[in-house]
Amino acid sequence: MGKPVLLSVDDDPGVSRAVARDLRRHYGEEFRVLRASSGPEALEALRELKLRGDPVVALLADYRMPEMNGIEFLEHAMDVFPRARRALLTAYADTDAAIQAINLVDVDSYLLKPWDPPEEKLYPVVDQMIQAWRDSPDAVVEEVKLVGHRWSAPSFRARDLLARNAVPYRWFSVDEPEGQRLLAAAEAGPGDVPVVITPAGVVLRSPTETELAGVVGLSVDPQSAFYDLIIVGGGPAGLGAAVYGASEGLRTVLVEREATGGQAGQSSRIENYLGFPDGVSGGQLANRARRQARKFGAELLLARDVVALEAHGPKRVLRFADGSSIAAHAVVLATGVSYRSLGVAGAEELTGRGVYYGSAMTEAAECADRKVFIVGGANSAGQAAVFFARYARSVHLLVRGPSLERSMSQYLIEQLAGIDNVHVHTCTTVAEAHGSDHLEELTLQDAQTGERATHPASHLFVFIGGAPRTHWLDGVLVRDEHGFIPTGPSLLEDGSRPHGWTLDRDPYFLESSLPGVFVAGDVRAESVKRVASAVGEGAMAVTLVHRYLEER
Ligand SMILES: Cc1cc2nc3c(=O)[nH]c(=O)nc-3n(C[C@H](O)[C@H](O)[C@H](O)COP(=O)(O)OP(=O)(O)OC[C@H]3O[C@@H](n4cnc5c(N)ncnc54)[C@H](O)[C@@H]3O)c2cc1C
Repeated sequence: MGKPVLLSVDDDPGVSRAVARDLRRHYGEEFRVLRASSGPEALEALRELKLRGDPVVALLADYRMPEMNGIEFLEHAMDVFPRARRALLTAYADTDAAIQAINLVDVDSYLLKPWDPPEEKLYPVVDQMIQAWRDSPDAVVEEVKLVGHRWSAPSFRARDLLARNAVPYRWFSVDEPEGQRLLAAAEAGPGDVPVVITPAGVVLRSPTETELAGVVGLSVDPQSAFYDLIIVGGGPAGLGAAVYGASEGLRTVLVEREATGGQAGQSSRIENYLGFPDGVSGGQLANRARRQARKFGAELLLARDVVALEAHGPKRVLRFADGSSIAAHAVVLATGVSYRSLGVAGAEELTGRGVYYGSAMTEAAECADRKVFIVGGANSAGQAAVFFARYARSVHLLVRGPSLERSMSQYLIEQLAGIDNVHVHTCTTVAEAHGSDHLEELTLQDAQTGERATHPASHLFVFIGGAPRTHWLDGVLVRDEHGFIPTGPSLLEDGSRPHGWTLDRDPYFLESSLPGVFVAGDVRAESVKRVASAVGEGAMAVTLVHRYLEER
């Protein structure tokens, strides 16, 4: 953030210089003194200051200026910086101007030119303005500013991306005055949201996730075209592989579509991961792992979607959605699973606008005093219920089966039973979601009787198990009927190696049907779906990568 600003506007260059000189001499150490020669020029300067988040303390505007008089300027300036104090300068007493200035723009002072000596005529007035501003200054926002619509899926995705990548940001709704002021300064309209404004004043309107990640300083472009090891997926398995790969001297890059942490990053509290007896939030775990991987020299690319894998001789090439590619000797696929969609009428249209997959912790504050619905009977749904119960008036856990015992850990069942505002509804499914702009109602169905009832609802969080999104590997390596990737012994049929296998040995335990491409974590067929096992497989995959590299 720059120094707070004192801005003077006068079309007479001599007067303009004199005001700025007097102000600088007295206030220059603490304040930045800017001058403009017309209202439009000053408004442009204010617009830039707004975007950069620099505070403006006082505006001193000449009354008689050709393009836009001082009162008109101050009127516009108030839209941008309502808390900046305002003074009007005139060459002679002009009662009409004074009355107008007081009525229209509520000026603090009315100054007659010239003001010699400034010690008597100018500084006391400016001192008062500075004091008035200090008593009620602009809130200073040094982070990224994100202006969006409360119920817009793209706005939600932008918030989620920043939050999950631990980028500090401040959210402004288009409905609040400061949100509107920022939009005006960015020369954007409500149709352009989300609008992102960086601390340096760079504006992005409706950015793609890669554009957004790039502008807030997340690394999106590879530093090299060729690596020893490329890891696809930044969940626990991918991060585990990155830490071991980089620490063991492999030139390693990890590519993540959204944010590091994967599913685990969405967990409000992981209680069964070794070494954290009091539990750890997925966000914290991901943050530590990310720092650890970077410390060892792993490169992390974020908001980049890998869409193809190709084998060019011994080279393994991975292609991004924009057509560019990187290559390596070996690859670890750690792409995990994504939530299955709810698949009921209305839910798809309302995704990101009241219907969320996973915890969407950025929504927690919005759930205050509301009734929150959570679908799912596994640990992830249970953790979310415990988490949202701290914010919401009541949490309703909708479980298809007759009890939680078969799908949820006992410690979570006990925790839920001890929270007054959590209500478990067994044998209950979501039949329909309703709402125009955002989720307004849910129709629930009794799984046994088929009876339906509709309830007001603003938030529905869905945790109904995951499916691997591996269609992009179709034809490149063997996948099972659900899309999971078999490895090692599971690839052998009656002792025969998989079709197209070229090496004179069986695939290693975590190796896919394409030599040099290893698989770790939830995406691997028959893997245990746990944080610890994913991290372990990531580490083990790196050992097998070494073995593979040695035999070449
Ligand atoms: C809310 C919640 C709570 C949980 N709680 C626990 C718990 O308490 N204890 C426990 O042991 N387990 C828990 N789990 C399960 C655990 O999180 C998973 O088993 C673990 O995260 C799997 O790790 P992974 O690295 O294999 O995959 P994921 O965590 O699924 O990570 C895969 C990553 O790959 C990325 N990706 C996918 N495709 C691509 C692509 N084409 N290009 C680039 N990137 C891609 C994804 O964006 C994702 O970030 C929980 C899961 C959830 C959802």
